[in-house]
Parts: sequence; C-alpha cells; structure tokens
Amino acid sequence: MKSKKKLIAGNWKMNGSLAVNDALLKGLVAGLAEAACDVAVAVPAPYLAQVQAAVFGSVIAVAAQDVSQHDAGAYTGEVSAAMLKDFGVRYTLAGHSERRQYHGETDAVVAEKAQRALAAGITPIVCVGETLQERESGQTEAVVKRQLAAVIHLNGHCISEVVVAYEPVWAIGTGRTASPEQAQAVHAVLRAQLAAASEHADRIRLLYGGSMNAANAAQLLAQPDIDGGLVGGASLKAADFLQIIGAAR
Ligand code: PEP
Repeated sequence: MKSKKKLIAGNWKMNGSLAVNDALLKGLVAGLAEAACDVAVAVPAPYLAQVQAAVFGSVIAVAAQDVSQHDAGAYTGEVSAAMLKDFGVRYTLAGHSERRQYHGETDAVVAEKAQRALAAGITPIVCVGETLQERESGQTEAVVKRQLAAVIHLNGHCISEVVVAYEPVWAIGTGRTASPEQAQAVHAVLRAQLAAASEHADRIRLLYGGSMNAANAAQLLAQPDIDGGLVGGASLKAADFLQIIGAAR
C-alpha cells in the first residue's frame, strides 16, 4: 500500500530572469492555494534568494539543479550543499543527464553529490536514464540499474531519503515521451532493485521525466510505480505546470 504523496518538480534549466521568474512564480503561487502532491521548482543558483522569498508561505519548495560534491574550499564556480541550505533549498537534482553528458559526471560523482546533499538535510533527486543508442541496443535495464546501484548504499543514509527520477535521455527536451507502459516497465525494474536493497522501497518516490506535459501527465502519473514527475520545458509556463500538478493525486 502506498500512502506517499506524489512529487512534481519543475526544472527550469538555464532559463529565466528576475522579471520572467517573478511572473512565473506569481502565477504558480496564485494557482496553488493547495496541492494534492508535493511541488518544487529547481532554479538556477543566482535566483535562489528571489525564489525563496516568492514561494515563502506557499506549498512550493525550492530546489537546486546541482550541488557540489565537495564540502567547501578551492572549487571555483561550485555551490555547496550548505550554501543551498542557507537559501531554504529542500531538494537538489543530482546527476541530471545534461550534467552527466556535458560535464562528465560519473556515477561516483553523482553519489558524492547525493551524499553531500543528504548530509546537509537536502533531499537529492537522483536522475537515471538511458540514451537512445543504449535503449536500441537493449541496455536500458543495465544502464539504469548501474546508475541506481551507485546511490543505493550511501554511508549512514537510508535510500528512502532519496528521490529517484527516471529520465530517458532520448525523451528529454525532444517532445518524444516514453509511453506510460515504457516508463512503468523501467520504474518496475528500479522498484525491484530498491526492494532487494531496502525494506523501505515502497516509500521511495520514483519520478518520470522526459517531455512530460499537460496532455500526457495524467496517464504517466496513473502508472503504479510512477510517483511524480520531473518537468523541464512545461514547468516554464505556469498554466501547463499547474495542470501537471493537478494531474498528480
Ligand atoms: C528535464 O529537464 O529533466 C526534463 C525532463 O526536460 P523536458 O521536460 O523538457 O523533457
């Protein structure tokens, strides 16, 4: 039996400005007096203070898009988990495919990031997912299992403190969504892997991400092992994001 709330997290990626964020956040706050699910927005680091102030008192939680694997010190350009915590950050993405692809983040680095977040009291949303080539060569299961295995035993932390997002790389920003059946099949694999490692597997939220939008969200979110969504493009439009949130119950 699952009693956990679903989580809908928006990922703004490298988009926004003070003025654009202000309009978007006003629209979200006004449209979200209450929500049946948990809601977060993962914003570019320079806007954390703005977003923290704008969502104060609302149901929207602040999330970061990345966190340093280091604690503090000579790491120019990095943002530590403690710094994120200073701005009320509740969640951070770790190992988004764009970080893995463009910044060479390995499974080990992603695990260190998740560990740093947890140590600071921030819930990591660990992203896993296969490329098109990996899917077409039948490696989907092996790839996501390898990526999940890296974070399944984080020192001193129960895996139930982590959120996992399955994001097939071929579906991110492409308008090409995994079908509900394709997504559920991978989520079931991840759930089984979690169940083999922890008695708390059922408590762990498994999000789907990859061109989720107002039209396809309800069907995806109705799948038994899909506990929410990680939403890129559609989280930049208040009306669309609100519709997705409304589909998560
Ligand atoms: C994402 O950035 O994690 C994502 C899923 O993007 P999109 O919804 O635009 O595919």
